[in-house]
Amino acid sequence: VSFGYETVSPEEKTRRVGAVFSSVAKKYDIMNDAMSFGMHRAWKDRFVRRVKPQPGEAVLDMAGGTGDIAFRMADRGANVTVADINQDMLDVGAERAMEREAGPESGSLVFTHQNAEQVSFASNSFDAYTIVFGIRNVTYKDRALAEAFRVLRPGGRFFCMEFSTSEWAGFRDVYDLYSDLFLPRMGQAIAGDADSYRYLVESIRKFPSMPEFERMIAAAGFVNTRYEAILGGAVAIHSGWKV
Ligand code: SAM
Repeated sequence: VSFGYETVSPEEKTRRVGAVFSSVAKKYDIMNDAMSFGMHRAWKDRFVRRVKPQPGEAVLDMAGGTGDIAFRMADRGANVTVADINQDMLDVGAERAMEREAGPESGSLVFTHQNAEQVSFASNSFDAYTIVFGIRNVTYKDRALAEAFRVLRPGGRFFCMEFSTSEWAGFRDVYDLYSDLFLPRMGQAIAGDADSYRYLVESIRKFPSMPEFERMIAAAGFVNTRYEAILGGAVAIHSGWKV
């Protein structure tokens, strides 16, 4: 696995990803706003509209971090299990869950420590599986997709939102410049950690193209796979169904 300019073992990658998110957990929400110019909120709203969580549905929000997606789905009445490999991110999420004002129709929220590659839940136990800005950090993406397929019940749906590569050439140039110059500096200024943000840039560049990732989802067993590009594919929403 290549990590910045070095090549490291998969175990070392997992350890470093852990360190990245532990170092930014407390500043994570501020960073998201700063880095995406607030756009991540609209992307997340759009994503949840696509998932259409129904009251009483059981949803697994993998790599759920500090709960942004989970809260939106619980607000629609879904019972959400927030799973993440990083306890620091989960702790911030649980704290936010206690502080937030949940409406009377809100579904439940449970926070649990899990690795997407090997999930502790029984097969066929969820109506929907979501993973947002998470899968690019997972070392063995095919294992995570296989686990998503396993824990979904037949008829269950898979939704993933991730940074991908924009097909708009002009946009891509600006984005590259922004990634190389602006992001690490902002990481340094806000979280005191430029390296974490260099890693994030690297992980986005290495992520498979939209059609390639769709093929990976189909290879895990999902049908009716599709994707929707935002900003030409700088952000992409992939989905598929288990039958
Ligand atoms: N979904 C949240 C959101 O959109 O705000 C959090 C996204 S954050 C960029 C990525 C999350 O993926 C981190 O919380 C990190 O700990 C988690 N993660 C990375 N590798 C993982 C793995 N193998 N299994 C579960 N979670 C993982």
